[in-house]
Amino acid sequence: MFFDFGSRSAPDESECEFVSCRDSNMKICESGVAGRCRNAFISYHTETVMSTTTTQVSSKSLSQYKAKAYSVTSAESPLAPTTIPRRDPGERDVQIEILFCGICHSDLHQVRSEWSAIPTVYPCVPGHEIVGRVTKVGSAVTKFKPGDLAAVGCLVDSDGNCPQCKAGLQQFCPHMILTYNSPDVHLGGVTYGGYSDSIVVKEDFVLRVPSNLNLAGAAPLLCAGITTYSPMRHWGVTKGKKVGVVGLGGLGHMAVKFADALGAHVVVFTTSPKKKEDALRLGADEVVISRNADEMNKHADSFDFILDAVAAEHDINAYIELLSRDGNITIVGLPDKPHAVSASSLIFKRRSLSGSPIGGIAETQEMLDFCGKHNITADVEVIPIQRVNEAYDRLSRADVKYRFSIDMASFK
Ligand code: NAP
Ligand code: ZN
Repeated sequence: MFFDFGSRSAPDESECEFVSCRDSNMKICESGVAGRCRNAFISYHTETVMSTTTTQVSSKSLSQYKAKAYSVTSAESPLAPTTIPRRDPGERDVQIEILFCGICHSDLHQVRSEWSAIPTVYPCVPGHEIVGRVTKVGSAVTKFKPGDLAAVGCLVDSDGNCPQCKAGLQQFCPHMILTYNSPDVHLGGVTYGGYSDSIVVKEDFVLRVPSNLNLAGAAPLLCAGITTYSPMRHWGVTKGKKVGVVGLGGLGHMAVKFADALGAHVVVFTTSPKKKEDALRLGADEVVISRNADEMNKHADSFDFILDAVAAEHDINAYIELLSRDGNITIVGLPDKPHAVSASSLIFKRRSLSGSPIGGIAETQEMLDFCGKHNITADVEVIPIQRVNEAYDRLSRADVKYRFSIDMASFK
């Protein structure tokens, strides 16, 4: 997930004093994450969003309540219990009691401030794989009522007016509001995510959950699901295509399930030999241990499409070499360090390399409905919120089968 700084570049440390910071405690650039002041970052985005979003609300006029949550206060600190403000639902808002929230590797990147392009604003409450039950709706809400199941993914707002929004591609809106670490145009500061017992979200960004799905396993669909489903649809994964999935983690295992359900021949590339049997059970036709050059070479020039869902630095050229003429590799994994790419590997077989972020609201609903029809959910390890730091340690070691899903009943 990215912030798009639009036509203006974001302020850096030297420009901080020209930005009207909303944080009254601000000292000019007291943090300077990756050369950018966090406060300037919030202020810049808040100004930009406030001037464009369709939901401008004065924070002073909003009533609010306290929700339970887990937050981090620095890149080094563990997640710890806290309370956070949530706005009382406005006329177009839906209030949701969160039942489960998945743990995405992006949560880990963000709380540890591993992304230089997206500085983390602390305190940070992560979580963008949210499933719950509606507790209250505003007077103008038409699609949800108290008691309904509901879900929220990585987006909670966008400007609604730009060409991207008009095309239903809110994930490319320059003013999109992410579920956490984005400017909160209602309460000020930044948005707080799903490691919490409740959330309030504009109706247009609330999704319906098919009733046949296991809820703990459905939560990860809201990020891991849509992030893998969307590029597969875009690049035409279907029966008869040979599809590779690199990295059998939260995203990777969803990619295997979708590629299999779409009828493709699926090959998993993993660095973890112990995941081989799981990969086959999840729907892979073949499994390659990617550290074995001989096994890799057997697949040279043969793939129509490869999805790279690796969370760490690795050699992407090894996979480009496996694409057939006109094959595409799409990166969804987001390590901070840039990839080195061989131009000749791309040029001489007209191969392409692209990236893909999450998905728009309509496509996310389409994905959820597809999962309902095919009974697809994530394989989850359900944990109480009190074990979230242990889960982060295991996630950083690629040791999870295949997504942690936090049971928010543990807040009670
Ligand atoms: P994850 O569950 O931790 O899975 C990542 C997998 O990458 C691991 O299971 C492992 O698979 C592989 N891996 C880890 N370290 C590796 C290394 N050093 N070399 C090679 N392979 C390694 O993470 P995730 O939640 O699926 O997220 C994956 C990445 O996608 C993260 O960077 C995340 O931020 C990003 N993401 C992007 C979007 C988007 O919109 N584009 C959305 C969500 C997440 P094996 O054990 O099979 O090798
Ligand atoms: Zn995610």
